[in-house]
Amino acid sequence: ALLFIDLDNFKDLNDTLGHNMGDLLLQQAAPRFRTCVRESDTVARLGGDEFIVMLEGLDNDALAAAEHARLVGEKILEQMKLAYVLDQYQHMCTASIGITLFLGHGEDVEALLKQTDLAMYQSKAAGRNTLRFFDPAMQAVVSARASLDNDLRIGLKQRQFQLYYQPQVDDAGNLVAAEALLRWHHPQRGMVLPTEFIPAAEESDLILALGDWVLETACAQLVTWAARPATATLCIAINVSPRQFRQPDFVGRVLSVLAASGADPCKLKVELTENLLLDDVGQTIAKMEALKTQGVGISLDDFGTGYSSLTYLKRLPICELKIDRSFVRDILTSPDDASIIKTILTLAHNLGIDAVAEGVESDAQRAFLANLGCKAFQGYLFGRPVPPAEFDLFVER
Ligand code: C2E
Ligand code: CA
Ligand code: CA
Ligand code: CA
Repeated sequence: ALLFIDLDNFKDLNDTLGHNMGDLLLQQAAPRFRTCVRESDTVARLGGDEFIVMLEGLDNDALAAAEHARLVGEKILEQMKLAYVLDQYQHMCTASIGITLFLGHGEDVEALLKQTDLAMYQSKAAGRNTLRFFDPAMQAVVSARASLDNDLRIGLKQRQFQLYYQPQVDDAGNLVAAEALLRWHHPQRGMVLPTEFIPAAEESDLILALGDWVLETACAQLVTWAARPATATLCIAINVSPRQFRQPDFVGRVLSVLAASGADPCKLKVELTENLLLDDVGQTIAKMEALKTQGVGISLDDFGTGYSSLTYLKRLPICELKIDRSFVRDILTSPDDASIIKTILTLAHNLGIDAVAEGVESDAQRAFLANLGCKAFQGYLFGRPVPPAEFDLFVER
C-alpha cells in the first residue's frame, strides 16, 4: 500500500509559530511516522509538508491489506496529535491521508502517486484529519470532468454553441420578449442542455468566456431584430451566472458589448439568481444601479427557491421577478404552491415591478395565474426554446 500524507494548515502554523518551529515539526514528523510502521516499510518526506509511507509485503488478501493500511494511517493521524513542538498549538496541525493498494508487480509509481493524491483530496474535502482510500469510481468522475472541461474549451473555439430563444408573452398573448437559452451541439454527444454543462463551466473560468459569448450573441440578435418591424420591439433576457456578475468589470463589459454592437440597452434584460444576494449587498446594488442607469433591466430568476431576504429586496433596483417553474408546475393541485405564487405576485405588485411566470405548459395554468394577477408568461404553452431561424417563423405566424 502507498500512503500519501499531507499536513493540514501547515502554512498557518508556520505563520503563527515562525518558520523554525514549523521546520522543527516537519523534522519530528518522519521519525514519528516511522514508529507506526514495520522495519521493512519506507517513510519519506516528499518535500514541503508532504510525506509518503510505503507498506510492502502485505497480506495477499486485499481486505486484510486494506485493514493493515488503515491501521497504519490511523496511527499516523494519532502521531500528528502528539508531534507537537508546543502543546498549546496541538489542534493546529493535523494530517490528511490518501491510501492506494497495489499488487507490487512493477506498477507505475507516477500513477500510484496520482491515486493517493486524489484520495488525499477526498480526506481534505471530508474535513481533514482523516484518511480515504483511492476508489476507481472517483477516478472516473475526475476524468469525466477533465474531458468535459476540455470539450467545453474546444466547443467555444469551434463555435459549437448556439443561443435558442423562448417567447415571453403578455396577458393579451402578445409576444414581448425572448429568453436566450444556451445550447451545445456536441459533435459526439449531440445536443447538450445547459443543466449538464453550466455547473462544470461555473467551476472553472470557462463560464466567463461562455458568458461573454452569450452577451455578444444576444446583442447581435437584438440588432438583427431591431431592423425588422415584426421583431423591432422585442427584448432579450440573458442568464448571467453569479461568477460572471461578480467580475469587477462586469458592468463595463456589458456596456461595452452593447455599445460595440449598437444594441439598445433598454432591450436587454439580465437574469440573476437570488444566491447573489448572499454577497456584499452594497456592491451588488451598485452594479445593478449602474446597469439600470443605462437602461438594462434586472430580473430575479428562480424567485422563491433561494434565500432572498425580503427586507432588502426593496432596496434592489430590479424590474422583474421570475416565478420559478417548480411553483407553476403544481399550481392547480397544490394549494401551497398557489399561495406562494399569490404572495410573490403581491410582493411584485407592492414593489412596483413585473412578475413573469415560467414553465407555463397548459392553458389551465395560464388562466389560474392570470386570475391571480400575473401579466407575463413563458413556457411550452407559448413556445419551446428554438434557434433564431425558427423563432422568426414563430413571429411571422
Ligand atoms: P432557467 O433560467 O430557469 O431557464 C428556464 C428553463 O426551463 C430552460 O431550461 C427552459 O428550456 C425550461 N422551460 C421553459 N419552459 C418550460 C416549460 O413549459 N416546461 C418545462 N418543463 N421546462 C420549461 P434549459 O434551457 O435547459 O436551461 C436550464 C438552466 O440553465 C436555466 O434555467 C439557466 O439557469 C441555465 N442557463 C441556460 N442558458 C444559460 C446561459 O446562457 N448562461 C447561464 N449562466 N446559464 C444558462
Ligand atoms: Ca498542506
Ligand atoms: Ca432564466
Ligand atoms: Ca427557473
